[in-house]
Order: sequence, then C-alpha cells, then structure tokens
Amino acid sequence: MTEQPTLQDFMPNGNMTDNRTNLIGMTMDDIKNLIVELDEKPFRAKQLHNWIYARGAKCIDEMTDLSKTFRERLNKNYTVNRPIVTQHQISIDGTQKWLLKYPDGNEAETVFIPDKERGTLCVSSQVGCTLTCKFCHTGTQKLVRNLTPADIVGQVMLSRDTLGDWLRGTEKRLLTNIVFMGMGEPLYNTHNVIKALNLLNDPDGIAISRRKVTVSTSGVASDILRIGQETGAMLAISLHAPNDETRTEIMPINKKFNLASLIDVCRVYPEVSKTHRITWEYVMLKGINDSDQDAYDLVKLIKSIPSKINIIPFNPWEGSIYECSSKDRIKKFSDILAKNGIPCPIRKTRGEDIMAACGQLKSASEKIPNWKMREMRGEGTAT
Ligand code: SAH
Ligand code: SF4
Repeated sequence: MTEQPTLQDFMPNGNMTDNRTNLIGMTMDDIKNLIVELDEKPFRAKQLHNWIYARGAKCIDEMTDLSKTFRERLNKNYTVNRPIVTQHQISIDGTQKWLLKYPDGNEAETVFIPDKERGTLCVSSQVGCTLTCKFCHTGTQKLVRNLTPADIVGQVMLSRDTLGDWLRGTEKRLLTNIVFMGMGEPLYNTHNVIKALNLLNDPDGIAISRRKVTVSTSGVASDILRIGQETGAMLAISLHAPNDETRTEIMPINKKFNLASLIDVCRVYPEVSKTHRITWEYVMLKGINDSDQDAYDLVKLIKSIPSKINIIPFNPWEGSIYECSSKDRIKKFSDILAKNGIPCPIRKTRGEDIMAACGQLKSASEKIPNWKMREMRGEGTAT
C-alpha cells in the first residue's frame, strides 16, 4: 500500500528559520515528480537522488554536475538540511550520542555503537513515547510527536557525516547496521517508519540492506506483519516477561496485545518477511522476571519459533524503581535458555557514562500545543 506524502513528510529540517522544503525524505518517485514539476530533463532525477542519498551532499552547491541555473533554482526552494546537533558526547568505550533538534524545536537522541565487526546506529522513531514501560526512562517523557521519514533518515545521514562514512564503499563503512531501538515505539509510527526503512534500504541510495536493519517493538501485534511484508526488516520484540501477569505489570501495552496474540503473529513473521529468526529482548529485573521458573516458561513460550534472546542487564536511571538482577542470577537464567538450545548472548552495556545505554534515552522536549506548531510553520494563529 502506498500512501501520499504529506506536508509533514517534507518539513524543512535543521535550520529553524529555513522555510525551504527538505529534499531528504523524498523517494526516487517523489524526486521524479519534482523534476517534472520543475520542467527539468528526466535524467536529473537520478543525479539529484545520487547526490542526496549516495554521496551525502550537505548543500545544493556541492552538486557540481548540475547546471548552475538548476542549482540556483533548487537553492531558492529546497535544502538537504540535517537536524541540528545540540549535544554530541563520546563515551570512554567509543559510543557516540547525539542530541538532535528538529525545526519545530523538538529533540531526539541517536546513538552510534562501534564494535570490532560492525557499527550499529540506534535511531529514534518518536520524540518521547506514549507507552509507559515501568523500567524505561523514555517512557517517563510525554510523547511530543512522531518523527517523519526525513527526521529518521536525517539521523543516519548526520551520523554518516560525522563518521566521514560517505563514499567509502560499502565494505569499509563504519556504520553497517541500524536498530530502531532509540526513543519511541516504531509501530505507533508505522507509516513513517516503513517509508524511512525503504529509503535506508535503497541500493542506489543509503544502501543498508534490510537484513542489517532491525525494528524493535514493545509488541504492537497489529502492525508487525506490515513491517515484514513492506520492508523485510529483522524483528526484535521487547518481551521482558514469560507470562501475562508480570508482563502487564511492567509493560501496560500487554493489556492491549496479550502474549498469545503477540506470539501468534511472531510465529508467521519469519515466513512473511523472509527473515530467519526473531530476536527477543529480555531485561533482567531483580525479583520480577528473573527466576529459574521464568526461564523455563520463556523456553516453553517461544520454543516453536526460530529465536535468539538478547539478555539485557537493567540500566538504572534516576527515579527508576527496579534493580538489576545479580551477575550470578543472570548467568543461571541464561544457562537454562542455552541448555534448551536458545542462543542467548548477554548484552554488554555500552555508553553508560553518557546515558546512552538501552532505556536511558530521554530528551527535554515537552508537548507543544497545536496552535504553536502552526505558528512555527508560518501558518498564522487561528482566531
Ligand atoms: N519502543 C521499542 C523500541 C525501544 S528499544 C521497544 O520497546 O522495543 C529499547 C530497548 O531497551 C527495549 O527492548 C526496551 O525494553 C529496553 N529497555 C528499556 N529500558 C531499559 C532499561 N532501563 N535497561 C535496559 N533495557 C531497557
Ligand atoms: Fe516506549 Fe519502548 Fe521505552 Fe516501552 S521500552 S516506554 S515502548 S521506548
């Protein structure tokens, strides 16, 4: 299903006073339409697309094989602005975190985690999150808004800029994987996330293959198969409990989509998406979800699905009500899973010193009233 782009999709990024339209976020078809509108030769569409997404041009003037007059015309009304970096921190372990500001003043965070074999960018899909998982810092922030495809792709482009990662050739790139594990629930913003995924996967553009992109959801069962059908991305489920009682206690979304409905959808995901397995995330909360019985129940719950479980030591934040399970408990828990044939790496905590670890992200953005949003977009105030 293709949906028409909305004005929101192309809101200018970056410079707050820049009212020009951002080309970032446009698909090849959008660019072709633009070229027709501007009465330029059709081959310009491919050139423009290549400059934006394959070469990472940061301004129209860099696009030197476009004629000067065409560049001047573009410059009047269009940009390739990235979000503004309001804070950039580098952890002692090499993890980098950016606090990014969008044109309406809202902020979201992006984290880059370098490893020996790969570099993973953790992107946000919303400013804040409407869900209130009790162990998650982002959940304490009121949702401000969904991020647009331009906002999401802008996070990737900005990190490629900082890493000097354009034009290295796919083999040598530092940023090799993307996970939708930053702020927000991707499947409460499904339309924009799918559009962003398709831009990220485009082999003529940003070219990060769908197998290298993972969408993590707290379990919005209604939208999971759309991700499989329309993008083929890898799927991660934030499971965190093997029974409805505990899961509802720590993740209110479980009242809407209980474990049975979630597992039913997950059973068919690998086939629908042509991916080979599902990753389950399981945060270790002392005395809540970490007993031997919980481990056996977990095995029973997912045993018919090709699976990997990421065991995540709980990362504390100021005001959190939980503690992390002890090392010994985590080891015993993971031994039970491993003995039952389930791969279950214990995730190393990264970027803790800069509050970049799982579940620690939070920006200071608060809900902006609609009248203010209209004013910021230059649409005047309603009387
Ligand atoms: N909203 C989506 C995407 C965010 S992913 C989701 O929930 O899946 C962030 C991951 O970190 C999720 O698995 C989340 O459950 C986990 N997480 C949240 N708070 C955490 C914390 N304090 N310590 C460790 N992991 C946490
Ligand atoms: Fe939102 Fe995910 Fe955090 Fe839950 S864990 S509050 S769904 S970001």
